[in-house]
Amino acid sequence: MHHPSALDLEKTFRSHAPGYWADLGVSPEDWNSATWQLKNRITSLKQLEEHLALTPDERNGVLLSGTKLAMAITPHFFNLIDRENPDCPIRRQIIPRVEETLTSPYEMADPCGEDAHMPVPGLVHRYPDRVLFLVTDRCASYCRYCTRSRVVSGVGEQELDTDFEAAFRYLEQHEEVRDVLLSGGDPLLFSDGKLEKILERLRRIPHLEFLRIGSRVPIFLPQRITPQLCAMLKKFHPLFMSVHVNHPRELTFEVKEALGRLADAGIPLGNQSVLLRGVNDDLAVMKTLVHKLLMCRVRPYYLYQLDLIQGSSHLEVPVQEGIRLIEGLRGHTTGYAIPQYVIDAPGGGGKVPVNPDYVLQRTPERTLIRNFEGRTFEYPEPSSVEASVLDY
Ligand SMILES: *Cc1c(COP(=O)(O)O)cnc(C)c1O
Repeated sequence: MHHPSALDLEKTFRSHAPGYWADLGVSPEDWNSATWQLKNRITSLKQLEEHLALTPDERNGVLLSGTKLAMAITPHFFNLIDRENPDCPIRRQIIPRVEETLTSPYEMADPCGEDAHMPVPGLVHRYPDRVLFLVTDRCASYCRYCTRSRVVSGVGEQELDTDFEAAFRYLEQHEEVRDVLLSGGDPLLFSDGKLEKILERLRRIPHLEFLRIGSRVPIFLPQRITPQLCAMLKKFHPLFMSVHVNHPRELTFEVKEALGRLADAGIPLGNQSVLLRGVNDDLAVMKTLVHKLLMCRVRPYYLYQLDLIQGSSHLEVPVQEGIRLIEGLRGHTTGYAIPQYVIDAPGGGGKVPVNPDYVLQRTPERTLIRNFEGRTFEYPEPSSVEASVLDY
């Protein structure tokens, strides 16, 4: 499916700038400014068609996306699109398609049951010791398979109305919470000052041991990861960050530099990929992705089975194929490069790990296992060893 030389190219850290903007006279200062990137996002059919010949399914998708999940693509990310290939893995993630209007019977607007777990608007408390804090409904660009498309981008039926004061009060009163995950939308779209105020407020709560930010800004808008932002974030350690990369091409020269600045600020970086048909459902692509992530000092954290979000069935990959991908990594490459494959249980059960079966049989006396090459081994249980010694 993928020509080896094409993948070799994906493994290099290239700059794609100025790409589609080559003849438009953009100064390097503008290009490298996050404000310019956000102002010049592709948000309309007209802008899109100035650069790309759309397929009818894409054209209709764009026309219909305005009432569901807005389209927005930063110039930086848009440049990763292959003009010649309608099946381009970047295109599939970011350009609306008419299939988004199809809803399968098992698909939902809130597939992870988040709304039912909100004690305060914007705060999801599903696990005993940690909360998800949805601080904004805006992102730098919109992923078409967004699990929160019901509230994100501002055009859907629901609105995100985070009550910050109530959320801070809830966290102050709930001493069992030791970990707060800022997400949304994308928290890194806030100004340094606004984000700093939130982090300061959280750090005044003594039982909060651990903070993290979930963001795709380093990928969509690496220009936002300035030395000033990193210097600000660094005051709030321990602070981790989870980024979202699905395909090796997303790891450009600029993204690698941005991730390097975050890592240099002492922020441990993890990656959360979503398994997507035609994007990363291929072992060679996945291996290239996880290797490139390690080169960027990012540890692959989770590989998500796609949530059952309305209008996403064209991107769905069978669980069996996800398990096969993990099997193709375990033992065959660096352990640090292997993410945990999870299904966020439909209806609100939380993340559940899904693994290949390496345990073939378990009895009180022994565990029968197989390794990555398919060879089987027997591990005697300590109690049975002790018993046989006593027998002797
Ligand atoms: C994913 C998630 C978390 C964080 O889970 P970890 O496994 O600790 O990364 C917390 N709360 C909610 C609601 C989540 O969906």
